[in-house]
Amino acid sequence: MGERRLKCIPLRNVAIVGGIITNIDIKRSFSIKAAELAFEEDNGYVFVVCQVDGAVVRPEFSDMYRVGTLVKIIERFSMPGGVTKLMVKSEKNCPMIDFDYEDGMYHAVITDEELYTSSEEKLEILKNMCGEVTEELFRESPRYPMEISKELSRETDEDVRLNKLAQYVFSVDNQQYIEYFDRIERYEYVVAKIRDELNVISVEKSVEDAISNKMQNVNRDYILREQKKAIEEELGDSLEDDELGVFRKKIDTLNVSDDLKKKFLKEVDKLGKIHPSSADYFIVYNYIEYVLELPWNTYKDDRDDIKEVQRILDEDHYGLEKVKERIIEYLAVRKLTNGNNKGTILCLVGPPGVGKTSIAKSIARALDKEYIQMSLGGIHDEAEIRGHRRTYVGAMPGRIISSMHNAKTSNPLFLLDEIDKVYNDMKGDPSSALLEVLDPVQNVKFRDNYLEVPYDLSKVMFIATANNLSTIKQPLLDRMEIIEMGGYTEYEKLNIAKKYLIRKQMLDSGVDNITFSDGALLEIIRNYTREAGVRNLEREIGNVCRKAARKIVEGGVTSFKITQSNVAKYLGIPKFTDSEIENGVGVCTGLAWTGAGGDTLSIEVSAIDGKGELVLTGHLGDVMKESARTALSVVRSRASEFGIDKTFFEKHDIHIHVPEGATPKDGPSAGITMTTAIMSAVTGRAIVKGLAMTGEITLRGNVLGIGGLKEKSLAAHRLGVKKIVVPKDNIKDIDEIPNIVKNSIEFIPVGTIDQVFNVSYGV
Ligand code: ADP
Repeated sequence: MGERRLKCIPLRNVAIVGGIITNIDIKRSFSIKAAELAFEEDNGYVFVVCQVDGAVVRPEFSDMYRVGTLVKIIERFSMPGGVTKLMVKSEKNCPMIDFDYEDGMYHAVITDEELYTSSEEKLEILKNMCGEVTEELFRESPRYPMEISKELSRETDEDVRLNKLAQYVFSVDNQQYIEYFDRIERYEYVVAKIRDELNVISVEKSVEDAISNKMQNVNRDYILREQKKAIEEELGDSLEDDELGVFRKKIDTLNVSDDLKKKFLKEVDKLGKIHPSSADYFIVYNYIEYVLELPWNTYKDDRDDIKEVQRILDEDHYGLEKVKERIIEYLAVRKLTNGNNKGTILCLVGPPGVGKTSIAKSIARALDKEYIQMSLGGIHDEAEIRGHRRTYVGAMPGRIISSMHNAKTSNPLFLLDEIDKVYNDMKGDPSSALLEVLDPVQNVKFRDNYLEVPYDLSKVMFIATANNLSTIKQPLLDRMEIIEMGGYTEYEKLNIAKKYLIRKQMLDSGVDNITFSDGALLEIIRNYTREAGVRNLEREIGNVCRKAARKIVEGGVTSFKITQSNVAKYLGIPKFTDSEIENGVGVCTGLAWTGAGGDTLSIEVSAIDGKGELVLTGHLGDVMKESARTALSVVRSRASEFGIDKTFFEKHDIHIHVPEGATPKDGPSAGITMTTAIMSAVTGRAIVKGLAMTGEITLRGNVLGIGGLKEKSLAAHRLGVKKIVVPKDNIKDIDEIPNIVKNSIEFIPVGTIDQVFNVSYGV
């Protein structure tokens, strides 16, 4: 037939084999035009040929493959989106020898080329092979439905049958196929392709098998597990092995002895046998969980840079040299002994607000230790420290172990707050439990009732605080190294306020533009607070800051200068005014030591007509009442020396009154004060002004030592006392008293009441 020029439609992706009916979608205007005109003018004959690159919009000859397909358009449909669908019957594949664009469409010059067979023998063999692999293909893969196989077998033309097979197997990728005009090449190509396909199918199959095996196993496991659960539930057994397994694994990683591990594993075994709805289940479960969360010999590295520690301690607290020094020594010893300085338990003793708790916190910060605090105030029950046995309903570990639980490390700083407030009663002896905690020999194996197993507390750094040593049991006291924090002088308070408290309170209240003059601070210290520490001072400064904050928010004021004269605007009228030390006839100033620090007390005595009775009013504790009786006896025994008539005491009642004051007072140290006041009332001699005294009296008139001289003298200093009579036993304590106090107060040591009288009446 030779060459032919035909209208041509360039295809983007599809090469079409000969002898089949198929659809072509066209969209480009030149293609639509070619299709229309071919339909009208050429009996629907058109040449379709594939572009090498489908993306080229206006292809040239060089953009085209050189073999295309002669097709006859059977039907045309207009589709939405400007697409025209052509149903075509392909006639045959033809080489294209030219390609051009004319009259708004493409034309192709094609030649006829018939298929040929280069080797009949080979063709036969290939045909057979092709038959076999095709059969296998249809057998193995559902992707090639039987209908196709049937359609193929109905095809009588062998060339077309191969074409159709090629079309179905490769669909998109058959440009190469149509370029072969030797049947043998076509067969070879198809057979190779089908083999590839079979390979893919077999790989897919094996992967699928593996997956489905796995799936089956999972299903199998799941079903078995469910069954096991059902059986366990039926039998009262429970908890999935997994959870027990997790417990077991964790136990294995604990840094504890094998014995302990065994004990914990036993608990896990036990758990595995308990029904989850039974009460025991939770008890055992909670126990295991708790034990696993406790720190077992897990240590945090402490800071051992002494300079840095000192810097942090100084940064947080003014003064307190003794405490800081002790901490540095502790560090030094620990460095030299490689961490083996066991048994250093510091006990910070002093009135409230002197910074016991906050220095402990700061020590923890300086040493980079975890900080935990346990308040012992009001503990009566040993179980609070040691916990309850698990058999108890609602049993819990004691406070020591639960604090360790919170600490999460085995070497925290542990503050035992208010160790002097532990009481003994019927419910066991909490202080004996504490003894065990603090004893370096015993605390390696501290026993908590709940925990049941020994727990090592030996790496814990314990620090205790107390207001008063007198209520601490001796054995406990023996374990601790006492550091007294007596209270601050006005000067120290002023500095603490200026350097620490104001800054802290400004931060807390968000006020950043406020200044306090020294006068204002002294005013607050003297007239708004009366304390050994600085807690109320801090509170009052906080009050001022909050009032300022409010003013800022309300608008108008942005900066504040607090001075002595305007303090009252913020804090109201002063809470305390210093009463002059008013000694006189029958009135004598004593010094007391209470939980809140030192204080003065004024003892008033009158001798009134009566029958020789002793009348006590005011707030006197039992010890003070005893002192009053002793005092009276001492005065009576010295009556004649002072020229008092023997019958005086038969005709007069002696009335002693101790004004209540802010804090109740008791103790023997008012003994000499009462004696002096009684003598004064009886003799009518006035007691010199500016004098205060403290000391215990014996029946024979001896003066015995007292406690808290530092606190007492700070209070006396605050109130303008000039001379203090002190027992000579206390001379050693005078060293402890800050210089600022020593410089303005004269201390007069005495051994007997007669010496006191000498000083008091100015004889
Ligand atoms: P305590 O435990 O002795 O009752 P706190 O530790 O609660 O006293 O101290 C009360 C407040 O006073 C805290 O805010 C503390 O920081 C502060 N404070 C006490 N002493 C000092 C000091 N020397 N330097 C700085 N702040 C101090």
